[in-house]
Amino acid sequence: MTSEKKSALVTGGTRGIGLAAALALLGRGYRVFAAYSSDESSAKAAREQGIETVRADVSDEEAVRALFARTGPTEVVVNNAGISLFKQIQDTSAEEWDRIFAVNVRGAFLCAREAAKGMISEKRGLIVNISSVWGEVGGSCESAYSAAKAALLGFTKALSKELGWSGIRVNSVSPGVIDTRMNSRFSSSEREALLEEIPLGRFGTGEDVARAVLFLLDNEYVTGADIPVNGGFSVV
Ligand code: NAD
Repeated sequence: MTSEKKSALVTGGTRGIGLAAALALLGRGYRVFAAYSSDESSAKAAREQGIETVRADVSDEEAVRALFARTGPTEVVVNNAGISLFKQIQDTSAEEWDRIFAVNVRGAFLCAREAAKGMISEKRGLIVNISSVWGEVGGSCESAYSAAKAALLGFTKALSKELGWSGIRVNSVSPGVIDTRMNSRFSSSEREALLEEIPLGRFGTGEDVARAVLFLLDNEYVTGADIPVNGGFSVV
């Protein structure tokens, strides 16, 4: 009976990296919920694969409360919902900066806060924040995005120290260049140039990132860690 299964939530779990993580958790027997912002055709496809979808903007406090009212207590939360911005700083508006932080950072905070309430009473749980290689090393013309992803790394470490005492582990995964819709803006020559910077000679897949999430699920002695999944793009 599905109602007896442990639940997992993947924000942005209807496509790309999030979908791969959601399917991996489904494969581990979880009842999996995916929050998404607007792409209905991806949500439909995710539902057809057994994922329960909830349209909710993770930056909206009330929407996140309603999301967790729908999921009930979750054992695993993957804060994957994210948006990027490729602009030079002089062209970046304050509104754009705030939106990048609202989705990538505030969204992770709101979901972690709601999840922690149930996890603390269970004395068990796993939160995985999807950061980025740019959060680790910074990306030119992506200062807002890089700063937001770096904030997630700090948030992860702090929360792992706070929640470890309650049996909750908090980790991050930092993907490099993953072949998803987020990178569809690259021209073929830009893709070629990027490939030349990746020692393993290919872009990553959502499944590559999902395997890191499963590692964090399986290894119950890892918390406060960041796992780079970048093909050697940036070894730090
Ligand atoms: P994607 O654009 O394919 O998917 C993003 C998902 O997030 C979608 O399901 C979308 O509905 C959801 N989303 C966006 N804004 C939302 C909001 N406000 N509320 C709820 N859901 C929202 O992107 P992706 O490439 O799969 O990226 C997933 C995560 O991985 C992001 O956090 C991204 O920053 C990070 N990341 C991606 C790459 C890459 O190369 N693709 C590299 C490093 C990090």
